[in-house]
Amino acid sequence: MIELRTAAELEQMRPAGAFVAEVLGELQKAADVGVNLLELDALAHDLIRKRGAVSTYIDYHPSFGAMPFGKVLCTSVNDAALHGLPHNYRLQDGDLLSIDFAASVDGWVADSAVSLVVGTPRAEDLALIETTEQALAAGIKAARVGNRMGDVSSAIGEVARAAGLSINTDFGGHGVGRTMHGDPHVPNDGRPGRGFPLKPGLVFAIEPWFMLGTDRLYTDADGWTLRSVDGSRAAHAEHTIAITDDGPLVLTARD
Ligand code: MG
Repeated sequence: MIELRTAAELEQMRPAGAFVAEVLGELQKAADVGVNLLELDALAHDLIRKRGAVSTYIDYHPSFGAMPFGKVLCTSVNDAALHGLPHNYRLQDGDLLSIDFAASVDGWVADSAVSLVVGTPRAEDLALIETTEQALAAGIKAARVGNRMGDVSSAIGEVARAAGLSINTDFGGHGVGRTMHGDPHVPNDGRPGRGFPLKPGLVFAIEPWFMLGTDRLYTDADGWTLRSVDGSRAAHAEHTIAITDDGPLVLTARD
């Protein structure tokens, strides 16, 4: 079911967006060569406790997950594209890290992701991250009253194709509200003018993610982490946005 939020409810959702943005900012600062993924998870968990927020990941157990997630963020390194389960791994020079974080504040959820390179970057990794950010920006720009979801999807897909990337549409954006995943689905490619009409009060996450080689994934032995079948690197970017009469409101905007 697709729910539309009132202007007052959108105001109530702002603290969740601000908190998720703040945590991602802290994680970006903390991520460095030699830092363990479990330390990043512990940092986020500490910030959740201090804020009185609730993790939407820790008990998350969808049909495709082998067991409850058990951590408060996803850390996907190099060939890991999505759902990277934080584990005992120290970041190495040149690692491409995607951090996906969501939490609930005052009963409202926000969801956001960012990719970065620790230490010395490879040019192709920076270009992949840049393309992913551009796809996110294009999707947000298309998230306007009068457009349809297909306009958001096609805007994302166009950026990827122009960069020569293939697109896997198995995982994409989603409605966000009282829970982390709701309707509508926001595919990372689609046809303009098709799909759900965008109306004021619709809140959803836009989350392009692309791999440098293949468009196929496999699930790691940890039961969660999704990796590229050819070992190519992946990047991911995400914001939770609201459709308003004044244009898209990016609830998880970072300074
Ligand atoms: Mg997310």
